[in-house]
Amino acid sequence: MQPIQGLHHVTAMAGDPRANIDFYHTLLGQRLVKKTVNFDDPGTYHFYFADATGTPGTVLTFFPWPGARRGTPGNGEAAAVAYTIRPGSADFWRARLGAAGVVIGQSQTRFGQEVIPFRDPDGMAVELVVSDAPAAVQYWAEGPVPAEHALRGFHSVTLWLDEVERTAALLADQMGYTAAGQEGSRTRLAGASGDIGLYVDLLHRPGQPRGRFGVGSIHHVAFRTVDDDEQLAYQLALRAAGFDVTPVRDRQYFHSIYFRAPGGVLFEVATDAPGFLYDETAGALGSALRLPPWLEPRRAEIEAALPDLRQPEARP
Ligand code: ZN
Repeated sequence: MQPIQGLHHVTAMAGDPRANIDFYHTLLGQRLVKKTVNFDDPGTYHFYFADATGTPGTVLTFFPWPGARRGTPGNGEAAAVAYTIRPGSADFWRARLGAAGVVIGQSQTRFGQEVIPFRDPDGMAVELVVSDAPAAVQYWAEGPVPAEHALRGFHSVTLWLDEVERTAALLADQMGYTAAGQEGSRTRLAGASGDIGLYVDLLHRPGQPRGRFGVGSIHHVAFRTVDDDEQLAYQLALRAAGFDVTPVRDRQYFHSIYFRAPGGVLFEVATDAPGFLYDETAGALGSALRLPPWLEPRRAEIEAALPDLRQPEARP
């Protein structure tokens, strides 16, 4: 079995779908590479924001539930997602975010790298990490951010945990992660690809309350595996190690298995293939509502029930 390559995608819950698109697509310059519905609840949108082609390790996805209650961050969940930016881009992003009214937190230094923390419109913690590490991302040339400042895929996710040992052991013993540093209460592990979405940070917060899931909460963290055979090998090995792993689910753009990590965070192992070009050309990615074949017969009913995505001034 090959070690896990790194992060595949991160999925969170948003509130207003229009505000979600405005923030990630228009402000952060992440392409909306797929506009579909929650396959388990087709009355809800599922948005995928990524680089130009949806490269694994760049993909942040949201289920927008307008009017739902906000979550409260706490132990047992992923509490922050971090993107990499190039050295020299920090001032650009402070200015761009500031001009949009985003409140930027105090810059931090983490493992020798500058970290710029802020929150999205639903309160989810997002970070920019300054790094000159190589990143095989596909620049979205039609996007609003110049190439030299564009986000360069995920740097890391941070999990908040009551105790880190068992989650660290899962990552190291079952998933092929290696220890990449310890700084205060933060333990860093690295995936195998050496490229984007490399790190998982475990933040030790003993005795702190558990998170309450809601708008602005991260629902799960998905890890990359190379193909279906590898995924089945992981399913077998994780089950043998005592994890309650789901059957393979067809997510159209990748295949998924899910299981709960010891600290409470929902993990997914997803395949790189078939990818986001499965049902749209590169030029058309995200431009139309895509439905999987088993929901296509219900398209009219589904479209009628989904929230209006037009800008407020364009709504009737
Ligand atoms: Zn997922």
